[in-house]
Formats: sequence, C-alpha cells, structure tokens
Amino acid sequence: MSGFDGKNFIGGEWRPAASGRRFDQRNPAFLHEVTGTFADSAAADVDAAITAAQAAFPAWRALAPPKRKAHLDKALREMAAQRDEIAAVITRENGKALREARGEVDSAIKEMDYQIAEGMRLCGQTVPVEVDGTLAYSTREPLGPVALVTPWNFPFNVPCRKATPALMGGNTVVLKPASLTPRAGLLFAELLAESGLPPGVVNCVTGAGGSVGAALVGDARIKAVSFTGSTPVGKSIQLAAARNLTPTQLELGGKNPAIVLPDADLELAVAEIVKGAFACSGQWCTSTSRVIVLEEIADELTERLVAAARGLAVRDGTAEDCGMGPVCGAKQKADVLGWIAKGRAEGAHLLTGGAALDGEDYDHGCFIAPTVFDRVTPAMAIAREEIFGPVLTILRAATIDEAVALINRLPFGNAAAIYTRSGGSARAFADRVNVGMVGINIGVPVPREPFSFGGWNQSRFGAGDITGDDGIRFWTKLRKVTARWPEDAGAGVPGWH
Ligand code: NAP
Repeated sequence: MSGFDGKNFIGGEWRPAASGRRFDQRNPAFLHEVTGTFADSAAADVDAAITAAQAAFPAWRALAPPKRKAHLDKALREMAAQRDEIAAVITRENGKALREARGEVDSAIKEMDYQIAEGMRLCGQTVPVEVDGTLAYSTREPLGPVALVTPWNFPFNVPCRKATPALMGGNTVVLKPASLTPRAGLLFAELLAESGLPPGVVNCVTGAGGSVGAALVGDARIKAVSFTGSTPVGKSIQLAAARNLTPTQLELGGKNPAIVLPDADLELAVAEIVKGAFACSGQWCTSTSRVIVLEEIADELTERLVAAARGLAVRDGTAEDCGMGPVCGAKQKADVLGWIAKGRAEGAHLLTGGAALDGEDYDHGCFIAPTVFDRVTPAMAIAREEIFGPVLTILRAATIDEAVALINRLPFGNAAAIYTRSGGSARAFADRVNVGMVGINIGVPVPREPFSFGGWNQSRFGAGDITGDDGIRFWTKLRKVTARWPEDAGAGVPGWH
C-alpha cells in the first residue's frame, strides 16, 4: 500500500512528477502527523497520463467485456479482502469515524459489483425496417480516454463509482483525486493495476486542481469528464469542457433541508437529523444543513436537537466511541468557523457549539463542536449557502406551503427529507419539492440501485447518470447500423446454394 509514495501512476508505472516536486498531506485529527508525500504534478504529467491512456485505448476497447470484467472482479475481490486497511487510510486522510470509512468501502464494493454486472449488459437493439432484406441495429461503443476528478469527502468510493462503469464501457481512465486525500485515490488505482490491467488503462495523477485538474479536463484528447465537487468548480469545468464539446457529468454541492411536521415521530426525526447533519462532520453533499420546522413543535424539536448534538463525542475517527471526527483539514476548519462567525453576525441564535474545540485531545486537530443555530431567517447566508461542516440551521415556518417554498427558492436541488406520519403530506412533499433525492422519514435518502445517485438544478449537471442502471450509458455512445445485402451475397461461399 505504499509503493506509490511521491508518485503518479502513468502507463503502468509509478513515476515521480516530471518536475520532481512533491507535497505532504496531514491527518486532520493530528496535524503533526504526515499521512503521505505525493507527486505535485503539472501539465507535463497530465500530458504523459493522457498519452498513456490514448495509447492503451485501442486494445482495451477491443477486449471483450467478459475479459474486462475478469480484471475488475479481481480488483473487487482484493478490495473486499483489504476492506479494513482501506477504511483506515480513509479515516487517516479524511478524519471520518472508522465505522463511516468502513461503510464507504462497503458502498464501493456494492456499487462496483453492480456496475461490473451492468457492463455485461451493454446491449444495442435490432429493429425491423420497412425495406426487404434490410437490418437496422445499434451497438454501444466506448468514448476513448476519459477524465475523473474527485473530492475528498468520499475519497475512495467516488473514484470507484466513476472508474468502474467507464472501464467496463471500454474507456481508458485518468483519475485526479482531491489533494487533501490523494492516498485513497492512489490506493484504488493500485488495486486496479494489480488486477493485471494493461499499462495505460488506468492512470492517476495527483496535484492541485487549478493546474492538474484544469489541464486534464481542458485537453481535447479527453472524450468525457466526470466530476464530483463544488458547484463553482463544476461550472469552471463545464466551461473548459465546452470548448472541445466534451460531454460532462457534474455532481455538485447542496444545501439539503429537512421539514418536520407536528405529527412526526420526533425521536426518529431527531436521530435522523443529527446523523444527517453531523456524520462525516457535515461534509456529505447530502448532509442535512437546514431544518424547517412548523412553529407549533419548533421549541420541542430544537431542544431535543441541541441535546443530541451536545451528546456527540467529538474524537479522532479511530476512537471506539467517536460520534464525530474532525473536519478535513486546516482550511476547511477556518472556512467553517468563518460561516459560524457570519451566522452570529447575521443575528442567528447560537444554541450550541459555535467554536473550535481545544484542549488535550483536540490541540493538534481540526475539531469543531457540533453547532446548532436557531431563528435563522431565509435571507441569512447560513440559510442559503453550502457550509459543508458540522453546522445545523433551524428555520421556522407557519405552514407546510411556506416550508416547501423555502426549499424551492434555493438554486440547489440535491436531497430533501420530510418527517411526518401522514402519507398525504409525504406524498404532496415528494411531488412538490424541487430536488432529485427525497427522503420520507429518512435523513440521507441515497437512492438504491437501479436508481442513480444525484440531484437537480445547481446540484447536478450533465449528460448522464453516475450510478444505477444508467451509469454506464454516459460512458458509451450509440452506433446505429443500417445494412442491406445483395440477394447473391452468399454466392460462391462453400456450402451455400
Ligand atoms: P472542489 O474544491 O470542487 O474539488 C473537487 C475536485 O476538483 C478536487 O479534486 C479538486 O482538486 C479539483 N479541482 C479544483 N479546482 C479545479 C479546477 N479549476 N479544474 C479542475 N479540477 C479542479 O470540491 P471539494 O472541496 O473536494 O468537495 C466538496 C464539494 O463536493 C462540496 O460542494 C460537496 O457538496 C461536493 N460533493 C458533491 C457530491 C455529489 O454527488 N453531488 C458528492 C460529494 C461531494 P484539489 O483537491 O487539488 O483542489
């Protein structure tokens, strides 16, 4: 697991950056602990990786899907065997609790298994046509070398969920993992490499998004881009890709609300909201960030949420009793504290948290107390912008109509949840809320296969789904063939009359 220190994976080899430059990354729970040294790559390294992916494409494309499957199956088995070691790497780089990191690897295993199987159903169609002796059929064809740019919050699962359908579809891949968590991405590339994939089929280049990522997605040899990250960076990628008419798949930010109605099971609602708000320190794109509660139960719900938030044990992710780990890095900590300061300045009522944690266990890490703001108004920045940290904002509404209007006025559209015992209210909510993923008494409504993961509006953009049944379609293009054979086409062939 460490052969790749300071190196990229290009053309089947572990190579340092052409410049020889490197950068260190640190454990967010113990900033004095270096988690690894990585290649600080530049355009020359991106060029080498794309050249390798381009050279590998013809042979990989020609390989029958069952043979592609054999490689990925091998990597999948190894992933399952190394599940706990991979989870430990995730916790060390990202800070999330070990049980969450294990959950991330388990999701990667499940999704990879599903997408490998989907790759075996890369079917075209055959259709009857009106002209005698004419056959019309279609085949699904790979695109070429493709780019994957991934975030630090799911540093292992996101590379896996993008690379698997891309590879099963016959494409070759250049992965650019997030700079805060490059080891998890390199580890995934290593698992694939060790499955015997031919050199150049998978490449992984580490380094800064503004240089490495931008060079990758703007290169005309790249035939598709799959990106997961923030909405502003997604927009810049879309602009760069548009210059070459490169298809994109952008999974972006969110500001996910939960509505609580007076008839809700409050115990369940509180448990789900706290999990949604503070798991991974609030750094999921589906994290619950806004609670919109009807006035008549607002005080009771708020009291219970504050008690539950105070009860979370904030610890290093490897601690057995870790309820919430650190945020992912010093910059992330400063950003989140900046949002908290803004909330206070805007006049929101801070009920708990609101500060970095210090003292013995916390001094060397990026720990922030679980934070709850009440009396947040729709105009406040903390009600509108993605904070991406352990900060829950509570807004009060007089009616369900007002609550739904508060959700639909924001440009995001990732996930939304409702807590109620009423089927009618839940159904009306699901029909009217302008988001892609709806939870009914479920805080983080991750869709189950065959549905795909993903939101609407400014939370997602692009030409295809990322997971589920349609995941693989993005990575292929349809060739339509119309064929007619002369009546004597078989003449002269031995055995035909
Ligand atoms: P980010 O800052 O947008 O970065 C994502 C990736 O893009 C990183 O690999 C980054 O590299 C790279 N990058 C940065 N600038 C770039 C540029 N100009 N051109 C090309 N690549 C560039 O996002 P993040 O902070 O890693 O992740 C958090 C965000 O991701 C949140 O907004 C969250 O909601 C979103 N997210 C969305 C989903 C979803 O499915 N909708 C899932 C997970 C996360 P560096 O690391 O080197 O900067």
